[in-house]
Amino acid sequence: MNSEVCFADIKDRSRSECFKAILKSSEGHLSQFKKGSFVGIKMTVGDKKNTGHIKPEFVKTLVENLKRRGAKPFVFDTNVIYHGQRQNAVDHLNLAYQKGFTPDRIGCPFVIADSVFGTDSKAIAVDFKNLKEIRVPSLVNVLEDLIVLSHITGHIMTGYAASLKNVAMGMASRAGKQALHSSVRPAINVANCSLCGCCIEACPVSAVSEMSGRAYINPNICIGCGECIAYCKFGAVAINWHEDENIFAERMAEYAYAILSRIRRKVFLNFAFDITEECDCMAGNDPHITEDAGIFASADILSVDKACFDMLAGKKDIFSRGGRIEMHRHQFEYAEKIGLGSLDYRLVEV
Ligand code: SF4
Ligand code: SF4
Repeated sequence: MNSEVCFADIKDRSRSECFKAILKSSEGHLSQFKKGSFVGIKMTVGDKKNTGHIKPEFVKTLVENLKRRGAKPFVFDTNVIYHGQRQNAVDHLNLAYQKGFTPDRIGCPFVIADSVFGTDSKAIAVDFKNLKEIRVPSLVNVLEDLIVLSHITGHIMTGYAASLKNVAMGMASRAGKQALHSSVRPAINVANCSLCGCCIEACPVSAVSEMSGRAYINPNICIGCGECIAYCKFGAVAINWHEDENIFAERMAEYAYAILSRIRRKVFLNFAFDITEECDCMAGNDPHITEDAGIFASADILSVDKACFDMLAGKKDIFSRGGRIEMHRHQFEYAEKIGLGSLDYRLVEV
């Protein structure tokens, strides 16, 4: 199957003009959202100090578009498993409001789907090679209309973050996120460890402690969230991938498939602006690793991610961090094999 991916190039126009062009070209997809339908707009506001996330102005434009159709849009995200202001709905919502995602600025409510403490977690039986169950907020289980807004970035564990990751990780409950990470096993390279204590402080489950003057990760406690890797400034924490790398990639694809197969109408928009090595969950503003490209849109999650990846990685090798290029290749192929979407896309410039 050949899926269409619309692409609005940022060249010679503003970001808002680019977005308007992509919405116009996506009319066929957006017209699916009918009067009275509750349309969930999945996105993330990122860490407190991150500014690369998708901006409220884009959301407002999209919300107005949906309201003109009589739909009832709302923005949603889920709580995360690591430290920060998005670990519970109270701090998470306050952060969203501070960043301008207030109902009066975006034109609709912002909902934290998995409740105040992230405990709304419904187990759904699936039958994949790796997963026999997924855990999602009950909202995800009943949602029929979905628009996924993803900011394209690099990523500490997956190397490339786009729609697939936004759905698989971002629409799982906290328990689901932990299960997704469970094959990731970081370990300390003691030669590089200065025992600064950052990873000990950052670990959400107290799996890191001091041992013989160096940090030590207890593999029986570790949930594989990757926080310690992000916080170590000395390169002393590394993921012990071995064969697990592909399993992690496959699990993400299985999660995305299981979630999306329950949702009737869906559209995916990838924003290739302010592309940084780290994702928006990380504090601060990384240097950009490539120039802005524009916005991609498709009803096919795999096509939109692949088109975006091909265009950005084709110019410069930016997503192969830690040898992750093979992981992406494997994930794309596996995702297509299980029916998530098509890698065979047709790019239409708008
Ligand atoms: S953050 Fe890095 S250097 Fe600091 S204690 Fe942990 S492993 Fe060692
Ligand atoms: S030790 Fe494990 S649980 Fe703790 S921060 Fe590192 S990856 Fe996460």
